Amino acid sequence: MSLAEQMDTVTEDAAGTVDRHDTTRTFESTDPATGAVVGVFPVHDADAVRETVERASAAAGAWSALGFDGRRTRLSAYRGYLARRIHELADLMHRENGKPHADAILEITLAIDHLAWAGAHAKKTLGPRTVSAGMLAANHAAHLEYQPLGVIGVIGPWNYPVFTPMGSIGYALAAGNAVVFKPSEYTPAVGAWLAAAWRAAVPDAADAFQVVTGFGDTGAALCRAGVDKLAFTGSAPTGKKVMAACAENLVPVLMELGGKDAMIVDDDADVAAAADAAVWGAMSNAGQTCIGIERVYATSAVYDAFVAAVTEQVRTLRPGTDDEATYGPMTMAGQLDIVRRHIDDATAAGGRVVTGNAEDAGPNYVAPTVLLDVPETSSAVREETFGPTLTITKVADAEEALQLANATTYGLAGAVFARSKARGMDLARRMRSGMTSVNSVLTFASVPALPFGGVGDSGFGRIHGEDGLKEFTRAKAITRQRVALPVNLMSFGRPAKAADVLARVVGMVHGRHR
Ligand code: NAD
Repeated sequence: MSLAEQMDTVTEDAAGTVDRHDTTRTFESTDPATGAVVGVFPVHDADAVRETVERASAAAGAWSALGFDGRRTRLSAYRGYLARRIHELADLMHRENGKPHADAILEITLAIDHLAWAGAHAKKTLGPRTVSAGMLAANHAAHLEYQPLGVIGVIGPWNYPVFTPMGSIGYALAAGNAVVFKPSEYTPAVGAWLAAAWRAAVPDAADAFQVVTGFGDTGAALCRAGVDKLAFTGSAPTGKKVMAACAENLVPVLMELGGKDAMIVDDDADVAAAADAAVWGAMSNAGQTCIGIERVYATSAVYDAFVAAVTEQVRTLRPGTDDEATYGPMTMAGQLDIVRRHIDDATAAGGRVVTGNAEDAGPNYVAPTVLLDVPETSSAVREETFGPTLTITKVADAEEALQLANATTYGLAGAVFARSKARGMDLARRMRSGMTSVNSVLTFASVPALPFGGVGDSGFGRIHGEDGLKEFTRAKAITRQRVALPVNLMSFGRPAKAADVLARVVGMVHGRHR
């Protein structure tokens, strides 16, 4: 079996695993809880990446020619395949990323729902339509449609190895593009499984979605391999490198980067609900969530009750690898140092620490940690921590909370807890972020019709929703003359008086506006 064929194999134990003797360079992905090898994958070099993109390019025409209905049928077959094998994929995610099986099921469910929405809404959002031709071109029909770009390169992170890349892959495919996906080096088995599942579920368009594996160099090679757009999800520093590589060939980019999301708890908030949401938003997935809550600003009216409720909840959390554990180990051992530095900085600056129970969990785990009275200048408040930690800061009122929430270079998402609908909506609108949920956390990610993306250092461009479909297309404008007019203003043959007549008409139509 060739390397490519091995990569395209879906097996319950080792999806996409290759025989390390058949290639010059391979790497292992390991279970962060036990260190056990999950799979062995090729390090694809620039030639291999280019070859894959060429195969995708050849497949893109046929995939696009299937039309919206043909693609919808095949995307449905794919989601059906994922749904039938949901436990197999969730088990792989648990072993490779460390997250609890139940969280993996939730993540796959969200991805399936987005696939269904993208397939069902592509035609209405992107298909041909006529628009008003306006006064000056009244004798023309004006046509608009959104055409696929060709091949989309997708570079993904490890923290939500199914949901996050699928936000680009599913919407790009629905829009008529082929996709080459470079999963994180921490979750190559999940990436290889997703592509192998595609080949199994959609055999007549197998090359429309392929995977290459490797480290940063493989990602950089994908930027330079002739893709028509690059959708990147990861950290801001890597995003800058991806943009620089793509700039060499004017390859457009979509940037889904990190965050330092805040929650505002207003005077009249339901404190118990806010505390429950803050703990889930901060600690689930071991805090390794781009849209996770890392900071809370609670008004003085609710601060004490909120801290008490959060503290009580945090004490019930238990990290581990068994089915009852609330969250798993840190996926990337290196992240432990960053989380510890932020906690140390916070305590050195006078912050108080409330931790849950995690002494027995093992070296790769971080105890759920709440940090109180931490100065706004501390790294725990300013930098993305990406661990199960939460700062809680007392503020005079929601206006001060909003000001502090917005005082960051990031702007991905956030949450507001307020009983007044008008107040909650007003604070949400003024929060400097791409997404905000009122009286819940992270909900916007589960609404396929809503666009997902950030501002500032959190990136630009949108996945999900109609904007997410359009992101992977180019708008095509066509005018078609229906009848010829006696006078053509865009001809050297126009009469000399035509400009005077035009000026009079413009004066009548627009001149009265002051
Ligand atoms: P990362 O930036 O380290 O890596 C992301 C991907 O980029 C990996 O596949 C990696 O191999 C690749 N890469 C590394 N160097 C590269 C280069 N020079 N050229 C091209 N590709 C390169 O990020 P990570 O640690 O995998 O993910 C965590 C980060 O992702 C966090 O900051 C998190 O907030 C962010 N994230 C954002 C979203 C979002 O939707 N905004 C979603 C999930 C995660």
